[in-house]
Amino acid sequence: MTAESSLPAILGGEAIRPQGPPDWPMADESILEAVHSAYRDGSWGRYHGGHVARLEQRLAVLHQVEHVLTCGSGTFAIELALRALKIGPGDEVVMAAYDYGGNFLSIHAVGARPVLVDVDAENWNLAPENLAAAFGPATRAVLVSHLHGGLVPMREVLALARQYGIAVIEDAAQAPGARVQGRVAGTWGDVGILSFGGSKLLTAGRGGALLTRRADVAQRARLALQRGNLLCPLSELQAAVLLPQLDRLAQRNTHRLRAVRFLEQALHGIPGLRPFRNRPREDSQPAYYKLGFQFEPGAFGLPRARFVAALRAEGVAIDEGFPALHLGRSPSRWRSLGPLPQAERAHEGALVLHHPILLGTDDELKQVVQAVAKIHRHAKLLR
Ligand SMILES: *Cc1c(COP(=O)(O)O)cnc(C)c1O
Repeated sequence: MTAESSLPAILGGEAIRPQGPPDWPMADESILEAVHSAYRDGSWGRYHGGHVARLEQRLAVLHQVEHVLTCGSGTFAIELALRALKIGPGDEVVMAAYDYGGNFLSIHAVGARPVLVDVDAENWNLAPENLAAAFGPATRAVLVSHLHGGLVPMREVLALARQYGIAVIEDAAQAPGARVQGRVAGTWGDVGILSFGGSKLLTAGRGGALLTRRADVAQRARLALQRGNLLCPLSELQAAVLLPQLDRLAQRNTHRLRAVRFLEQALHGIPGLRPFRNRPREDSQPAYYKLGFQFEPGAFGLPRARFVAALRAEGVAIDEGFPALHLGRSPSRWRSLGPLPQAERAHEGALVLHHPILLGTDDELKQVVQAVAKIHRHAKLLR
């Protein structure tokens, strides 16, 4: 009996991937070489070993922006961006009601209030057509994240924000190197941010960067980052291991994109499980930190939590998405113009497949498909 025809692993059958999901970070000789080299020349232990400066330079070229400041995390980069835009008490920042929770908290950290807008029905990323109604006299910025392989139409966001005189912060933590309507993700707005957290596509365990073309914003961010010394820096060793990853980013993004195309095709016939769909857009290429799915329990035949547990038992790294920001939080901490039905659908139905498998072999991608099909076939038994 093959693993495919056996019982689901969660019911005691043989797992499709008994070895579990692939490791992250993955083995990479170029990183070992970077660590060795930083050891040999002593740069690993210096305040200024050259790697941070080189990384900032490389990121500036890749993004075609004048100013790059690295720092201790993507979350801190968002806070720096808000401070550099002089956003504080009494101000409002518009963001999607389905987004990374840290972004909501960063707005509070500077004393401002989040205004939540509903998301796109097809990919649960910010929908630009919902912005204008949310802009009020206190609105100072809109914070936009590209999430789970989704892309937000930044051209539309920018046009609207300019019309209202509102700043744009573009969070590309999940989409380094993605193309959005002809530009690299993170370079559309007044400020962009990247994350180098331990699960991210560019990883150093921790770390982040702020990108901007505006000299005044860069200068204020630099001041906010300095308090006698750098408050929350990226280390030389972190920068040293990020540099070789930058060399491979474009090639890996293309590899992951091909894997996603394959999964989209191969999972097409499974009811109740649909990959995020971006609006067709010229000169755009998503990046996949996670591959987002819209899950419908009724159509698939299982509750979402049960599907996740069963798929994980087969050795596939999948998770529920973010909670919607307005659910379970006091309404005194945010404002919205009305109901947020798509964000609530996302809260109930978002699934995210972790990226390491997307760099795997064709056989590994087929294992994902087999595991999903197996669980679907046994849905009745699993209920
Ligand atoms: C991970 C992430 C961040 C923050 O990055 P950290 O470096 O972990 O602080 C910000 N925004 C989004 C969308 C993220 O996924």
